[in-house]
Parts: sequence; structure tokens; C-alpha cells
Amino acid sequence: MKSDSLGSPSKEEPLLELKSLQTHFFSDEGTARAVDGVSYKILPGETLGVVGESGSGKSVTALSVMQLVPQPPGKIVGGEILFKGQSLLNKTEDEMRKIRGNEIAMIFQEPMTALNPVYTVGDQIIETVRVHRGLDKDEARAHAIHMLTIVGIPSPETRVDEYPHQLSGGMRQRVMIAIAMSCDPSLLIADEPTTALDVTIQAQILDLIRNLQKKAGMSVLLITHDLAVVAEVAHHVAVMYAGKVVEYATVEELFDKPAHPYSHGLFKSLPDLAVDGEPLATIPGMVPPATRFPSGCRFHPRCSIATDKCKTEEPQLDYLEGNTGRTAACHHIDEAAKL
Ligand code: SF4
Repeated sequence: MKSDSLGSPSKEEPLLELKSLQTHFFSDEGTARAVDGVSYKILPGETLGVVGESGSGKSVTALSVMQLVPQPPGKIVGGEILFKGQSLLNKTEDEMRKIRGNEIAMIFQEPMTALNPVYTVGDQIIETVRVHRGLDKDEARAHAIHMLTIVGIPSPETRVDEYPHQLSGGMRQRVMIAIAMSCDPSLLIADEPTTALDVTIQAQILDLIRNLQKKAGMSVLLITHDLAVVAEVAHHVAVMYAGKVVEYATVEELFDKPAHPYSHGLFKSLPDLAVDGEPLATIPGMVPPATRFPSGCRFHPRCSIATDKCKTEEPQLDYLEGNTGRTAACHHIDEAAKL
């Protein structure tokens, strides 16, 4: 059975559901099919990790959910985005502004580019809660200090009046999380939230996201190129390649045995799995540009078990035998199991 709407088989109403989403960019060089038929679901309170190399379409999918794709040159040309059962694609810009921040919040890899350098961190939280929550100035300031406390900023009564450049990278990311969480969103989209941080701070920020999620009961869409990060916090994982989801599984299923040849490649290039003294395995070649995806299976030029069929016929996501909701898009899934 082919899978159109990918995700957990749970009967629970998903918080977010993407159905065959397509976001393309139009330029003189051609049409870049950055997101080209992506489907996944996130249930209330769960974390979905989306992994894949740069250029796989992970971030453009998230920007599409937020309706923040620069238009032109970008455009959502197909599919559906359902949030709490309602289509986000039918919302006006005013309605989307209310949803962004209030219901769906986003944090980025480099908080310095997302924070405004000329406002104190307190003013940036205050602005958010005054716009979205209608709090007066004193209430908003008290809420800002409360949020800085929650995300573990030391001396929040003092830090609230500091500017972003006065804080370390880890603290700036905590401030971004405080701003994102300040209106109690149902969904937090975290795009590479720990990539710019050193390893110890990474672990602290992941702990913080996990703890806040548990307390607030929100869902998290975590975008990362780092499988170790996914192992830490995600319940389900969608592996993306060249604008498509190629495998969807629980974290346990994927880490126990990846099904798709691309997922295998990602695992084999993990430093933890390298054999001592041997160079780290890499996936040969590169993600193709979104203007020139190969015919058939988009992974075929890099796949060690590709056949002629792979070069001409595009595989669709299909449920794997004996599993409950696990899917992969590969013509030779039995051969892939021997990799
Ligand atoms: Fe490799 Fe073919 Fe499977 Fe694509 S469809 S991943 S080329 S075996």
C-alpha cells in the first residue's frame, strides 16, 4: 500500500499534517523543486526529527509551514498544510501573523541573526507577549523575567536589560527559546538549534527543549543534519533527500536498522560507528541541485545498489512489511536490508 499521508498510525488527530507539500523557487536558472511532495504528521506532544544533508529541503519545508518562504522567487505550488485540522494555506497574512508566535514558534541556528541587536533581550520578549497576549508593560516585563528564569538564564532580573551581544552563544539561544515559548505555542519548530554551539552547551539546550516540551505538552519539529541530536530528543524521524521524505520510522526502528540506502549512508558516516583506524565512511557524491534532480530515484547516482529501474522509475513511499506505520521509498528494500 502506498503512503500518501505519512506519519504515525495513531488514530489521534495530528497537530500538524503535511500532505504532498511542494514549494518551488523560480529563477532564470530554472525551477528549483526544493520541497517536492513532502508528507508527514506530528501528533500532540511528540517530537519529529527531520534529518538529511544540506539541500534536502528540511528548512524550506519548515518555512513553508510558517508561510515565511520569500515570495517571489518561492511559491507553495501544491499540497496541503493542516494545523489543528485547518488549512494554513487558506489563511490571510493577518491570521498567519497571529498563528506565528502564538501557536507555532520557530527558533533558528544562529540566534544573533534572529535577535534584534538594538533592543534588550527583555524588550524582545516584552514586545512578543504584548502583541500576542495583550499584557500591559509591567505584566510583560514580569513575564519576560519569568521566561528567562525558566530557560535557565542566571540573574534574570539583570540580564533582562542586556543586549544580545552581551550574552554568550548558549545564552542567546536560551533567549530565543524564551521568546519562542513566551506565548505557550502548541508547536515549536527548531531549525538546527544547536549547530552553532559547542558540545556541552548543545547538550544543555537539548535538555532544555526536552524538559520544556514535557512540561508544556507541546509538539516539536526538530530539523537537524545530526542523527545524534535526533537520538536524544525525537520520537519519530523523517529522513529527507532531494526535496522528498525517503524514510519515516520511530527513533528506535531507525537506529536499530535503517531501511533506506540513504539512511544507511547517514549512519555509516557517523563518527561513533567508525572502525578504529579506518577513515570515516562517506556517501559518494553530493545532493543534486534542486534545479536538476536526476530521473527515477533521486538518490540513484549515489546508491551502491541502484539498478536500471532506479534510473527511470521514481519509487514512492510504501509501508514496510510487519511494521506499524514505518515507510521507505526504495525499489529494492530487501537488498537494502543487506547493506
Ligand atoms: Fe537505491 Fe534504487 Fe532504492 Fe533509489 S530506489 S535508494 S537507487 S536501490
